[in-house]
Amino acid sequence: MSCIFCDIVNKVEKAEILFEDESTISFLDIRPLNFGHSLVIPKNHYENFFDVGEKDLNAVISSTQFLANAIKKSLAPDGINIISNNGSSAGQTIYHFHFHIIPRFKNDHFTFRPQYKDYSNGLMQQFADKIRGGIKSFG
Ligand SMILES: [Zn+2]
Repeated sequence: MSCIFCDIVNKVEKAEILFEDESTISFLDIRPLNFGHSLVIPKNHYENFFDVGEKDLNAVISSTQFLANAIKKSLAPDGINIISNNGSSAGQTIYHFHFHIIPRFKNDHFTFRPQYKDYSNGLMQQFADKIRGGIKSFG
């Protein structure tokens, strides 16, 4: 199965690589929400956040923090979003786990406009119970 991010890892697909170590690689997103929008991926292939191995996940998180600090220093954004999209309804388009690092600027016209929901009677506890049930199922 072909994977464009594996191709970038294997250097058969071009990318503007920013940083690379033993288990991670980071490069500029070719469709940036703001200039400097970067991606950090494990070199090993995992579909998404749900199945990425713990060691590789820790490495990706460390590289993400390292690169976010480099972007903060070099581009002086007002803020940075770190995002992972998991599943098509969450906006995942490349099925090789990655973090987005998106530099943000005042008035950059890129906004999440969440419509917050209200928990009605007992609903909050129902959801908490469902999730705690999910946690127990791993036990
Ligand atoms: Zn891949």
